[in-house]
Amino acid sequence: MPDRTAIYPGSFDPPTNGHLDLIGRAARIFDRLVVAVATNESKDCLFTVEERKTILEAIAKDIPGVTVTSFDGLSAEFAEEHGAVALVRGLRAISDFEFELSMAVMNKRINPEIETVCLMPSEPYMFLSSRVVKEVAFYGGDISGFVPHEVELALRKKLGT
Ligand code: ADP
Repeated sequence: MPDRTAIYPGSFDPPTNGHLDLIGRAARIFDRLVVAVATNESKDCLFTVEERKTILEAIAKDIPGVTVTSFDGLSAEFAEEHGAVALVRGLRAISDFEFELSMAVMNKRINPEIETVCLMPSEPYMFLSSRVVKEVAFYGGDISGFVPHEVELALRKKLGT
């Protein structure tokens, strides 16, 4: 059987322990996992694409089979370009479900060959999001339990806290 590649697309602004947990678990399912930072102009991001890539590379460096890149456009098309068989996403709560379902249906229409594989978060990360981490960090709160050390440093530097 050929190598099975999956794409994990997202904003990762910034990556959290929840993202990292998902990367580790998806990397055990697939032979290769491409973590792909979406260059989405419509989203107001705190970190540049390059910063997010650098952080992801640092925190995922010890996980075998993982590479990091960026992309713009449609994730299903990007997945096809990489010969991927699946898109990996996380389903944290009911609130994620509708969005992920609509994305999965749309991606299936764009490329019926590519499956969307949704992983449930591990329990400690059930309600963890980049948005909440940024909010806590903005007000100088302790985020050390929510993000890798590299991200904590990068956030402090960015926000001057
Ligand atoms: P996007 O803007 O694409 O939603 P995110 O970086 O917020 O980008 O999330 C990328 C993917 O990672 C999404 O499928 C999201 O549900 C998932 N994800 C984010 N945080 C967690 C977490 N704590 N546990 C599991 N999955 C998560």
